[in-house]
Amino acid sequence: MSNRQAVLDMTDIMSKFVSLVGKKLPDDVTEKLKQLSDSEVVPMAKMIYESMFLNQKMALEFNRPSCQDTGVIQFFARVGTKFPLIDDLEEILRNSVVEATKNAPLRHNAVETFDEKNTGTNTGKKAPWIDYELVPNSDKIEIDVYMAGGGCSLPGTAKVLMPSAGYEEIVRYVCEVMTTYGLNACPPLLVGVGIGTSVETAAIMSKKALMRRIGTHNTNELAADLERMLEDGINRIGLGPQGLTGSASVMGVHIENAARHPSTIGVAVNVGCWSHRRGTIVVNSDNTYELLTHKGVEL
Ligand code: SF4
Repeated sequence: MSNRQAVLDMTDIMSKFVSLVGKKLPDDVTEKLKQLSDSEVVPMAKMIYESMFLNQKMALEFNRPSCQDTGVIQFFARVGTKFPLIDDLEEILRNSVVEATKNAPLRHNAVETFDEKNTGTNTGKKAPWIDYELVPNSDKIEIDVYMAGGGCSLPGTAKVLMPSAGYEEIVRYVCEVMTTYGLNACPPLLVGVGIGTSVETAAIMSKKALMRRIGTHNTNELAADLERMLEDGINRIGLGPQGLTGSASVMGVHIENAARHPSTIGVAVNVGCWSHRRGTIVVNSDNTYELLTHKGVEL
């Protein structure tokens, strides 16, 4: 197969995957929403969960996005250093968004800053956002696709704390975000917390925390304990589905962390909404692929 044909084929695969992510929630999110619905005791909250499931069913039946805000597309790619299309990757991912915007269809969400002009393609300067990590000695690529909606991006925040503030201040900071802006993001939320040295490292980790499968925990036991404690505490606020009160507020709390400077605690919070449109695909060197988040689905 020529390189050009391989580029076109991968663009087609990725555009179909982006479209799918807009219509069908990943398996772990669907399962968690079912769990929360089953354990919900507030009648209004139970009704809202039912309408969410109906919404999902109709999105598939009518082949339409499951939420009108299909967000700005973000890709988090773990790229094998021997992946054959590494040079063409940016072109492939950008064009896949242009195609998905026409075919899914996706709402036109990319507005050039300063020019204040909607490009109409969901592409623009640094849009889609692409984050690369290199994987040595691999000829595959694993890509998370995320639709960053307006409501779920709004609560995002980052700050550098004084070292004396300690882990207690991290808890206070996260809870303050939940009780002020959490409602903007259509609960139940997935909460991503990044902890490191500075705002940008904490911020990227807080977003990558949202790419983790629900139900997984940080490999550090102390961090995993903090995830559980935060989940418990935020649930007790009782935001409920769509913020109209209920037994739970969150689908989970995920913390990602890095070693930090002893004089700072960088902390960031990012949230995903109940319609957490993320998907993970592995593309092999011969363009065969596997969907890790949407089992049994054909593109
Ligand atoms: S927060 Fe999520 S569900 Fe609510 S409008 Fe935004 S994208 Fe849609």
